[in-house]
Amino acid sequence: MSQFKFVNSNREKAVIIFQNYFYTERKTLKSCEIIFMCQKKNCYASIKIDEHRRTVLEIRGEHTHIKLTDSEIENHEIKNTIKRKATEEISMRPNKIIRKVISDTDHVTVNDISNYRQNIYGKRREVLPVLPKSYDEAISQLMSSQETLVKL
Ligand SMILES: [Zn+2]
Repeated sequence: MSQFKFVNSNREKAVIIFQNYFYTERKTLKSCEIIFMCQKKNCYASIKIDEHRRTVLEIRGEHTHIKLTDSEIENHEIKNTIKRKATEEISMRPNKIIRKVISDTDHVTVNDISNYRQNIYGKRREVLPVLPKSYDEAISQLMSSQETLVKL
């Protein structure tokens, strides 16, 4: 049966795209095959994949909603890549990250870019809850952490 693709996700459970629908890992059967459920609320469509996570073995149920378009999927993937880079390359400027990631797509709008920027800031805030807001604040944070070190 058809191909599917794993999506980068920070969640514990794996997420895959199959035929333009997103599915989240739900449970592993005794046979070691794995059930993935559609991500949409109130939709109970699911797929079963083999234990090596390579093939879709079975599709169960019907979706209660329409599938995503190719460009929605692409947009989603760009967003994921950008979020990943936001923390992998923590000191890289948001504009540079965005430019790198979108360099090979042609239909990114100004609005998209401002969303991506928010994604980067949001993601960095998650991993670095006390990111200094200014140079002065950065210096004082450094100084105070040194004081703590000295005290220890
Ligand atoms: Zn569905």
